[in-house]
Amino acid sequence: MIFRSEYADVPVVDLPIHDAVLGGAAARGELPALVDGVDGTTLTYAQLDAFHRRAAAGLAGAGVRKGDVLALHSPNTVAFPVAFYAATRAGAAVTTVHPLATAEEFARQLTDSAARWIVTVSPLLGTARAAADLAGGVEEILVCDRAEGHRSLLAMLGTEAPEPRVAVDPAQDVAALPYSSGTTGVPKGVMLTHRNIATNLAQLEPAASAAPGDRVLAVLPFFHIYGLTALMNAPLRLGATVVVLPRFDLGTFLAAIERHRITHLYVAPPIVLALAKHPAVDGHDLSSLRHVVSAAAPLDAELAAACSRRLGLPPVGQAYGMTELSPGTHVVPLDAEDPPPGTVGKLIAGTEMRILSLDDPARDLGVGEAGEIAVRGPQVMKGYLGRPEATDAMVDEDGWLHTGDVGRVDADGWLYVVDRVKELIKYKGFQVAPAELEALLLTHPGIADAAVTGVLDEDRNEVPQAYVVRQPDAGDLTEDDVIAYVAARVAPYKKVRRVVFTDAVPRAASGKILRRELRERA
Ligand code: ATP
Ligand code: MG
Repeated sequence: MIFRSEYADVPVVDLPIHDAVLGGAAARGELPALVDGVDGTTLTYAQLDAFHRRAAAGLAGAGVRKGDVLALHSPNTVAFPVAFYAATRAGAAVTTVHPLATAEEFARQLTDSAARWIVTVSPLLGTARAAADLAGGVEEILVCDRAEGHRSLLAMLGTEAPEPRVAVDPAQDVAALPYSSGTTGVPKGVMLTHRNIATNLAQLEPAASAAPGDRVLAVLPFFHIYGLTALMNAPLRLGATVVVLPRFDLGTFLAAIERHRITHLYVAPPIVLALAKHPAVDGHDLSSLRHVVSAAAPLDAELAAACSRRLGLPPVGQAYGMTELSPGTHVVPLDAEDPPPGTVGKLIAGTEMRILSLDDPARDLGVGEAGEIAVRGPQVMKGYLGRPEATDAMVDEDGWLHTGDVGRVDADGWLYVVDRVKELIKYKGFQVAPAELEALLLTHPGIADAAVTGVLDEDRNEVPQAYVVRQPDAGDLTEDDVIAYVAARVAPYKKVRRVVFTDAVPRAASGKILRRELRERA
């Protein structure tokens, strides 16, 4: 069966992303658009509008042309959105780069995306230069701030060059070329058109939209599609104020919420964990908060409840999506009274879903049955750059994108994500979801962090193996303790059968476990 959204369809937004987001900016005048959460530097909406147009003129003057790929390599700053929209207005597709990428990783992205331009910040110039040398093909490295010998976007604000008039085809032209997280394999370049991203913003709005006066804290990185949408495009389109932090540091984060009277947080599970459990939270006035939303990785329902109880807030709502979906397909509506624990949300406007049998992908499942989530809608990517086979393996002829995630839908249309298809462990024919065991392990007071993967035992059976990080004061926690703790709480086939103690679980900033690294370790 096809599950459909409860929301009325929204028309496709056929505008370049800079117009879809900033079309109303000039009229908002002195309203603050972006605030540096540390030093207070503020850009008003009028400035954001004027500055990105001047920077677009400067980039065009430097030679940026329609169809070029420009790599944006910067932590979150108030200049990041200026650079992004300037680049798209000049006709470029922006490939966003992790600010902590090594020169080699950055070079691979430059080569894969055939980027001709880099925009970075002066503290990261060393890495950017090294990456450009390794990759070749980069015409010029510019900086957002100032650096000897490099053109500066800041200096371009004084340019009198004419604003570029580039004809954009929103349905075909790529606006953003983010790379997927690389949790399961090498990161792939995801071609998102102007229409993909702009329409996804409109699809999200009936369920969860910001308003002028809302203050959103942008601590997750803009370079990842979640930050790019939830923390940059969506709030700026609707006139909210985005307070920007360059990295996550709990003290600075809590102080910024207090000082800037933040109303909305869009975060990932590790930050929900800190808000629920860290003693430092009690030392801050977080009473301005109205909503906390978590996405990007599995969030345990009990942890979510502990967070909202402690902060006196409505339930922490989740959202679900992926880079290939621009990124959103499901959210818990901000006005939902009593969303069931653990749900990642309901289908957003204009989006269809099927749940496909894991044994026979041609068979559709119904309410309550777990299978692979497939999605169709205007937010489905144009494709992976230069990897048509990978694109065809993910998006079928009828436009259904097979997410690789296992989920089930309840009778009211709430979706629950079980785990990734590839992570499911087959124990003697029974399916075991590592995410469920990880959440359970984290409830043990002696366990600071945990990850579970399947390994083959002596008889070539796949069995769940836990990687466990002991709490500092839990020195005598043994393998048998861990196995017994889980065994007392799950069906026998789900038991953890092996335990490896380790110093840290490798994770991305979003909380995603980097299983590739775990496997390489094993
Ligand atoms: P790669 O595809 O390169 O291996 P990735 O899939 O981690 O990397 P992203 O696009 O950043 O790259 O992440 C999308 C994935 O994140 C989804 O497929 C899903 O597994 C997970 N995810 C997103 N939101 C949630 C959520 N609310 N709950 C559980 N998992 C989520
Ligand atoms: Mg993926």
